[in-house]
Amino acid sequence: MRYLKNKLIIENIPISNIAKKFGTPSYCYSFNKLKQNINFFKKSFKSFSPLICFAIKSNTNINIIKEIKKFGFGADVVSMGELMMALKAGIIPRKIVFSGVGKTTSEISYAIDKKILLINAESLSEIKEINRIAKSKNKRIKIGVRLNPNTDAKTLSQISTGKKENKFGVNKNTLYEIINYCKNSKNIDLKCLSVHIGSQILDHKPYEKMLKAVSQILNKTNHKFEFIDLGGGMGITYTDKNKKLNYKKYNTAILKFLRKHKVKIIFEPGRSIIGDTGTLVSKIIYIKDSGSKKFIILDAAMNDLMRPALYGAFHKTLPVTKSNKISKKPYEFVGPICESTDKFVTLKKFQALKEKDLIAICDVGAYGMSLSSNYNLRPKPVEILINGSKIKVIRKRQKHEDII
Ligand SMILES: *Cc1c(COP(=O)(O)O)cnc(C)c1O
Repeated sequence: MRYLKNKLIIENIPISNIAKKFGTPSYCYSFNKLKQNINFFKKSFKSFSPLICFAIKSNTNINIIKEIKKFGFGADVVSMGELMMALKAGIIPRKIVFSGVGKTTSEISYAIDKKILLINAESLSEIKEINRIAKSKNKRIKIGVRLNPNTDAKTLSQISTGKKENKFGVNKNTLYEIINYCKNSKNIDLKCLSVHIGSQILDHKPYEKMLKAVSQILNKTNHKFEFIDLGGGMGITYTDKNKKLNYKKYNTAILKFLRKHKVKIIFEPGRSIIGDTGTLVSKIIYIKDSGSKKFIILDAAMNDLMRPALYGAFHKTLPVTKSNKISKKPYEFVGPICESTDKFVTLKKFQALKEKDLIAICDVGAYGMSLSSNYNLRPKPVEILINGSKIKVIRKRQKHEDII
């Protein structure tokens, strides 16, 4: 995305054309950015050819998943719905891992029937349940166990998952107990140790610490794991202030780890693959002057993009047509929903805007549409994939009839 003659374009398409043709709010994705992210990720870790499982929860659009699949990716799913979606998109079961702290009996049963690569369990109770179901089906099931390595990912507290106070995974002692339990079971085969310490991680050091913790545990137990699933969490630059994650150093740390432990690595990236490919295009409905600031009331709201309301997340916001007139007052970009948290960002300095102008909210490809809802009975936006000069609607805008 860039400006060409003061007009914001995605690949070769001016955003204003999309708004005119498909209306607003709309989610637009750049195919070539997606391709670039995938190739960068693969290249960064190519020396040990990991299995890369796209975290479906970050973007559940079937056409996006189909594109990602073409690059050889598998899927990381966290519910039966996501497992069904991954299969429907054509991802082969041998490349699917199933994570999550609360898998139900029917979800486990479905995953077993579909013969996926691994069910990554997160408690002893879950393992016992998998064992019970596998036994009833007279099958031997490959599973993983998710370790909580008690590592601070140094990210937003709401998206940290690898500290002992988080609900995810099991601690060391429980892990040893689980290894023993599995040894005595004919129906479960403990193949994988998984870790996922959080999301939007920009510092490689938490990953190094996590690898150290995993290494120590592998040294202590003589259980032979075939896979180590390192999860995802690689961060992207939402603001120019964010420094980039150093993939070289992460790769180096993994290579060091692999010299001691002969295992196959699995990754589960979501945000780093799809996050910066997406833009939410919105139109200004009204501008309201409140004295000290102006409210820019958009036709997009927290139901379309929940991250700011949910985590206080920041998304770069740009005018679709650039001018050099500067506003005299700070702008607060808000949606029309009856919640005070229905606000995207407050900016002290921005170009002067008027009603009906278009706004682009950047880097919304991950946890944007997938977290959207019909709150206030608002239909969900259209999703569009742009490839060069080609535009493809990859999910139609919902209609009121669909939801009423
Ligand atoms: C959410 C999640 C991911 C993906 O995280 P990103 O930060 O989007 O890369 C990977 N693994 C598990 C278990 C998750 O819950």
